[in-house]
This record gives sequence, structure tokens and C-alpha cells, in this order.
Amino acid sequence: MERLISPKKTKEIVRKYGFKFSKSLGQNFLIDENILNKIIDGAEVTKEDLVMEIGPGIGTLTQALADQAKKVVAVEIDKSLLPILAETLRESKNVTVVNADVLKLDLHQLIQKEFEGAPVKVIANLPYYVTTPIIMKFLEDRVPLKNMVVMIQKEVADRMQAKPGTKDYGALSVAVQYYCEPQIITRVPSSVFIPQPNVESTVIRLTLLGEPRVKVKNEEVLFQVVRASFGKRRKTLLNALSSSELGVTKEQVKTALAAAQIEENRRGETLTIKEFGILADAIAEVKS
Ligand code: SAM
Repeated sequence: MERLISPKKTKEIVRKYGFKFSKSLGQNFLIDENILNKIIDGAEVTKEDLVMEIGPGIGTLTQALADQAKKVVAVEIDKSLLPILAETLRESKNVTVVNADVLKLDLHQLIQKEFEGAPVKVIANLPYYVTTPIIMKFLEDRVPLKNMVVMIQKEVADRMQAKPGTKDYGALSVAVQYYCEPQIITRVPSSVFIPQPNVESTVIRLTLLGEPRVKVKNEEVLFQVVRASFGKRRKTLLNALSSSELGVTKEQVKTALAAAQIEENRRGETLTIKEFGILADAIAEVKS
């Protein structure tokens, strides 16, 4: 099968099957070989690798992944792409297409069935309307992962890798960096897609840390503290935390902040993940 990665081939196959792009499913197909190679190189795919692709579309990235990896499982929600994938991946014997909504899948079960539970690389040009839920599902479900190399909206990538004290730093930065080391691989203009999205894109690599970046007594409390701290950005930590879902009084927050050696008038966006961890343990302590 000829490679799909060109505007001409993509248009040909779309026309042949009378395929209609769905905006609501985030269907923007990649047509640029240079970007495709950056994704594959960024994930350092080898013949040992087990790969999960989310949203293969017409199979452009899938074809390249199949050549480089040991095995690929591609999860596509849109039934109307299945006959196209049957043609474009006909010669890729190491690819399994699963017709499902990735957000509704039991990922552990799928990885057990397809890869005998071995760690996978997630490589995808993600549908932008559900980028964050998809990434967080893989991380929070503790799916066995080596890394994730994904094309996402530029602003979301910037937030994922933002450092404390910057405008992009928020709950998403903490959540992603709790599990991973993020690294931007390349910026991507909208001209490399058919149809062109209204936003710029970025390829980002999230390399899984062996252990979460901080060790806390209670992860749920950590993420409650993070949400509360960023939920009311202009409030001091003392005010933000004492009027939040945490259900602690101002006095209790004062005690926790003192124990964590964090000043009462600091704002959430200045805290490092390590400080969030110490604070979460102190809050858990005053709540118990
Ligand atoms: N990988 C192809 C490429 O690079 O040209 C297509 C990428 S396109 C940005 C996103 C793909 O994800 C589409 O094929 C879309 O149908 C699929 N998709 C959207 N939501 C999904 C979901 N919840 N689960 C699985 N696939 C989904």
C-alpha cells in the first residue's frame, strides 16, 4: 500500500470512500511527512515497542507505526473509517483496529488482551475536544506506560509543561508533572492538516516517572488541594483553601500552612509540586 502521508493521497482516499469529516470528533488528518517523522522519532519507536494509537483516522500515522513497532493497537471511535482502515492497513499485519470510544474502554483489560499487560507507548494525533480527558485517563488509571507522544493543541501543551509562577501553570501542569516529565518536541502549524484546525498544535512527549514526583499520604487530598488552590487564582492560599471542597476551617488551614512552612499569603500558582505534596500531607493531618 502506498503511503498516505501527502495531501494528494489523503484527498484520494477520502473521495474514494465519500468520507465526511466530523468536526465534533476532531477529525483533522495529518498530511506532512516531516511532522509524522518527528512524532515517530520523538517516541523512539523500535521493533520491541508495543504501541497504542488513539484515533487512527484513515491510518496515516498507523502505517508508519506499524513499520517501526512490534505491534500496534489503534482505537477509533468512527465506524465510517473502518472500511478505509481495512484498505490502508491491509498490509500491516501487526495492527489491530478497535472500534471504540477510548474514554469508555477498560484500558487495563485491552492491554492485557493485546499486549499481555506489558508497558505500551501511546502515540497519537489526538482529537482536540478530548485531549485532556484522554491523557488523564491513561495517567490516573495507572495504565502500564513507557511514554506518550501526542499531538495536541498548543495552549494545552504549554499548560502541561508550565513551571510555577508562570501564567500557564495550573492544575493541569501539576497533574501531568505529578506522573510525567513533559517535553515539547515541535510546534506544528495548522497547514499540515486536512481540514486545517483553527488552532496551532504541538507534539509533546510525556515520559512516565518511575514513581509519582512526590510521595503523599493521600492522593485524593493532594488533588483537592491543587484544585482548590488554582480554583480561585486571585485568592491567597489561606482564603482559597478555607472556602473549598476540602471542608477545612480557616484555623485548620493556618495550622496546616504553618506545619508545611508555607506562608499564608502565597498564591497557589507559586507552589512547586513538592510544596503541594507537603501541604496536602499537612491538610490530611489536620482533617484526621
Ligand atoms: N491519526 C490520524 C491522523 O493523524 O491523520 C487522525 C487524527 S484526528 C486529529 C483524531 C482521530 O480521533 C479521528 O480519527 C477521530 O475520529 C478519532 N476520535 C475522536 N474521538 C475519539 C474517541 N473518543 N475515541 C477514539 N477515537 C476518537
